Amino acid sequence: MFTEKSSSNEKRLETMRKNLSNIENKVESILSKDALTYNDKMILLSCVNVSFHTSGKIESIFSIDSCAACDFCQKMIKNASCNPLIICGLCYAAADAWKEAAWRRHKINARIFSSVLFSTEELKTLNLHTALLVRFNEDGDTVNETMSRNYLRITAAFPRADYGYYFKNYPEVEKGLIAEGYTSREKLPKNVRFIQSSVLIGFPSKPVWFADAVFTVYPDAETIKNAILNGSIECNGKKCMVCGFHCYLRNRQSTAVNIAEYLRCNKAAREKIMVAYRNRIAEISK
Ligand code: SF4
Repeated sequence: MFTEKSSSNEKRLETMRKNLSNIENKVESILSKDALTYNDKMILLSCVNVSFHTSGKIESIFSIDSCAACDFCQKMIKNASCNPLIICGLCYAAADAWKEAAWRRHKINARIFSSVLFSTEELKTLNLHTALLVRFNEDGDTVNETMSRNYLRITAAFPRADYGYYFKNYPEVEKGLIAEGYTSREKLPKNVRFIQSSVLIGFPSKPVWFADAVFTVYPDAETIKNAILNGSIECNGKKCMVCGFHCYLRNRQSTAVNIAEYLRCNKAAREKIMVAYRNRIAEISK
């Protein structure tokens, strides 16, 4: 039944879509130029979405997000259709319910940061002046070296903040690190913690040289209990402020620590994942 409320919602949606299309068109028209002026770059940076989270898991943290529409995430999501242990099969950011506005704003971020390399001075125009904690990629992953370099330059542009840089696509993060002169663990930026997300549920990925932590999701109560008994830090879906912002503030050590989180999904998905998990354990122990 048609109501006044549904009509006003429709109007809001229409306005939101129109605004997003305007931003997308503006960005694409600038990116289609052969050479960008300083002013073009400033316009692009004004189109970047910087979020400050006032509730939820990352309450009190700023985030700059990419988008699961990128080639890397789409490949991982496709691979997950053949292997239920690949965490990307449960990606909330790729789910239909994910809000259109966030999806499109993050896609614009990814387009800008993967296409243009900004200077540290230029990046100082981002709205991060009050930030103390910043997360890269709550949504999406590092698309390419240019994006990685821009993220690293943001950490130099706002040195007062501490950063949690989450990634699965480590080759692109690494290329950015090398290009920016961070060529060894000792040289890594002091205000950034590199959090490597494990690809497989229940199986921590081998840490890359620059990882401060390997973040793994475990499929049931017993597997996460074992991980914690074996030294993993418990994340377990808490608010980051409850754990003391481990992923952002923990002192850098010579090797990566493990962080374990309990898988949140429905019963049917968990059962399917547990079958795959047990099969893999059996295969490994052959
Ligand atoms: S370990 Fe702590 S900081 Fe890291 S994601 Fe979990 S709750 Fe947040």
